[in-house]
Formats: sequence, structure tokens, C-alpha cells
Amino acid sequence: MDYLKPFADNLMSFCQKRLGFKRPPRLFYKEDEKNASNILGFTGQYNPGKMEITVFTTGRHPKDILRSIAHELVHHHQNIRGDLNKLGISTDPGYAQKDPHMRKMEKQAYLIGNLLLRDWEDGIKHKHNKEVNIMITEEKYRQQLRKKIRRTIHNLLNESDHEPIPVYEEEEENEASTDQVRVNTPEQEDEIQSSIFAPRLVALNARLMSNWSIGK
Ligand SMILES: [Zn+2]
Repeated sequence: MDYLKPFADNLMSFCQKRLGFKRPPRLFYKEDEKNASNILGFTGQYNPGKMEITVFTTGRHPKDILRSIAHELVHHHQNIRGDLNKLGISTDPGYAQKDPHMRKMEKQAYLIGNLLLRDWEDGIKHKHNKEVNIMITEEKYRQQLRKKIRRTIHNLLNESDHEPIPVYEEEEENEASTDQVRVNTPEQEDEIQSSIFAPRLVALNARLMSNWSIGK
């Protein structure tokens, strides 16, 4: 589960911030071959008394596991709000259909959990694309600058027939940046905070993907 952990931790803090609960739950990963072979087996569970999330990992796509974590985190938030310990609510089989309150809790968890995962994922991809765009813009700017300097030196050399023109050192190029894109407005705060590890996560993802394609 080592490959999943940094993603799960990042998602956990994203959801915690979005949902606004102070105390995070404990998270357990469970490998279970027998459960995995059951098509209708468990994917995730939340224990409100212990404030523990358990996600089943065997045979699942990592993003599907992350989706379970986001879903169970919404249940954790409901628990902290006191919505899971109302009198008379049931967790007997069929509770999601029979108990109107619990059906509402499930609706919330599916809707908000899935949207949290989507926002977290898009935030990471957006941050990564933005960084790539900035790198491309900066490189283009450097190229233009080098071109301009060479042209200026060339013109000066042609005009002048006395003073030797100092040689331009390419390494000491102007480090002026066109990086004006990072705007840290309060509206973007969530996204920026959540994607602070984006390059690391994207790099890790790429490494894992290449490992998988070599290994299988
Ligand atoms: Zn649920």
C-alpha cells in the first residue's frame, strides 16, 4: 500500500479542509482475498464509535480505493456533526433503503464523496499543467532574449570598428521571469493548498505507471 499512501494522505487533508472537521479518523487498509473474490464484497467501512475508516484494497484500482476513502470521510463528518447517533437509526441490512435518515446520509456520502475526489484530482492535474505551462513560457522568453542579445551584439560589431565588444556569456542569462500566473486569491486557496504536493504526486504516479508496465 506504500504507493497509495501519499495520495490517500493528500486526499484526507483536502477533504478535512473542505468538510471542516478538526479531528481526522484513523485509516486502515485491509487486504482480503476472500472479500475481493466476492463481487458484492466490502469496499469500505466506517466505525463511528472508534472513528475508524477501513478500506479494502485487494484487487482494486487505486483511484477506486481513494473514492472509498472520500465516501467514508463524509460519514466521518456526519458522525462528528452528530448525524450518525440519532435515536432509532438502523444499520441493519437494508438500512440504506429502509431508514429514511440513513438513506439521506448515504446520498450525501455518495454525492459529496465523489465530488471531493473529483475536485481533488482536478486540482492536482490543473496545478501540474499550470507548472508545465509556466516552464514553457519561461523557456520561450529565454530563447527570445538570447536571440535579441545575439542580434544586438551582431549589429554592434558591424557598426563599430574600434572598441572590442565583450563576449556575452550564455550561462549568465537574465533570470527575469514571466511567472505572473500564480494568483493566490482566497477562492483558489483550497485548490492551491490541496495541490501543494501535486508535482510530487504526479511524478510518483508516473514512476508507478512505468513500474507497472515493466512488471506486467
Ligand atoms: Zn456509505
